[in-house]
Amino acid sequence: MDSPEQRPLGVLEAVYLVEAARGLMLTARHFLVNFPRHVARGLGIGAGKGNTVTIEYPEERRPFPPRLRTRHRLVRRPDGSPRCVACMMCETICPAHCIHITAGEHPDPDVEKVPVAFDIDLGVCVFCGFCVEACPEDAIRMDTGVVELSAYTREGMIYRMDQLLG
Ligand code: SF4
Ligand code: SF4
Repeated sequence: MDSPEQRPLGVLEAVYLVEAARGLMLTARHFLVNFPRHVARGLGIGAGKGNTVTIEYPEERRPFPPRLRTRHRLVRRPDGSPRCVACMMCETICPAHCIHITAGEHPDPDVEKVPVAFDIDLGVCVFCGFCVEACPEDAIRMDTGVVELSAYTREGMIYRMDQLLG
């Protein structure tokens, strides 16, 4: 594919000092507008009125969009047991191969299987949401609102079933 034609420089653009001065003026304008806002914010004037251009995270947080995918959780049945039937659909579709399920027998013959272990390696997960979409039981959701995920070790990023049910 041909590359697009480059627009020829105007006379003022060709004199680089003029463009450099314009850039400096833009930076100065942002400084003069934003600095008094931050000072006002520091003095407690007009708090919460959008008088700064930054959010003082983590003390201040923006509400998440309702469709944001956050840390997974496993949904429980009314008796508290996992709704998951260990069908392996989520494990199979996961593009990051970060779900690991071990299936076991359920005492109720109407429920074929249950997960004995259900691990998600959140250090590998790409938060695509495919697992949620694939689940035929609505047993896994990404609606905890938890986005701060960190650990001192890689193993610490592996969330076990008790954490996912919690
Ligand atoms: S969100 Fe995507 S990458 Fe993460 S566990 Fe689910 S399917 Fe795998
Ligand atoms: S797709 Fe749903 S029911 Fe199947 S193993 Fe995953 S969480 Fe369990």
